Amino acid sequence: MGEAALDRKVREIGMHRSVYGRFVRPLAGAMALCFTAGLVLLAQPPAKKPTARTAADDGFTDTPMLPGLPWRVHDPARPHPPVVTPGATPGAAPSDAVVLFDGRDLSKWAHRGTGADSKRLLDTKWPVRDGYFETAVGTGSLHTRESFGDIQLHVEWAAPRSIEGHSQGRGNSGIFLMGLYEIQVLDSYNNRTYADGQAGAMYGQWPPLANAARMPGEWQTYDIVFEAPRFEGSKLVKPAFQTVFWNGVVIHNRKEAIGATVWRNVAKYSPHAEALPLMLQDHDNPVRYRNIWVRRLGNYDQQK
Ligand code: MG
Repeated sequence: MGEAALDRKVREIGMHRSVYGRFVRPLAGAMALCFTAGLVLLAQPPAKKPTARTAADDGFTDTPMLPGLPWRVHDPARPHPPVVTPGATPGAAPSDAVVLFDGRDLSKWAHRGTGADSKRLLDTKWPVRDGYFETAVGTGSLHTRESFGDIQLHVEWAAPRSIEGHSQGRGNSGIFLMGLYEIQVLDSYNNRTYADGQAGAMYGQWPPLANAARMPGEWQTYDIVFEAPRFEGSKLVKPAFQTVFWNGVVIHNRKEAIGATVWRNVAKYSPHAEALPLMLQDHDNPVRYRNIWVRRLGNYDQQK
């Protein structure tokens, strides 16, 4: 209502203008709103009562077969996937994960002995502090005591806050799937090196699709899906594939590995076991790790 109209209205009913403006008009507005809401509610159809479960709730037996599969579309006989309780927070281990480091100890890891100890696994020399562990430079790489094939892997790492060195000499470590196929760990925040050797690279083969590096000293995440290669005798029948998210950014999308990681040479495959230990590389730089867990990947339609 305009000012002139308001004045006219106030004069008509003989009320002080401020009383009308502050109380009477807002009250009338609120009442109109309630009335409208009531009409809308009355116009709603009554809520339907839930019906009893029927066989169709479990699926259909009169639907076409899915191509190449023993299941119909919506087949009631198709196995249900195993139930997994997700971690309480993003990045936390789900219920079916093998936790490789929970902030306390390195009991799931070992050094490989050398010389007379070459067949033995030795306790790690990498120090654990305040929820993380760090490369003890020169003590050798770490290997998991357990072996893994196809996996989902979550790793958190941080390059040193103080910037020392350059190119491959700055925050260098690596996640070696099966101890053979490296996803590079490196301080790649304003640190120029060859593209297929920067952080996130399938080292010597494929640079990451993007450089999602955080600043030195900041915690970073890798979420890796690794498909192990398959061999029949000495023949490669399926190569390894890697899917990697770096700090939530996809950097490899089921990318085929050319072979086992090598330096200054073309990678190639040599037959190996279906499952092998994971490795964290000692590359003479103090890199930190925390919250590492792995899930063995099952197949579709596997009943547990
Ligand atoms: Mg490395």
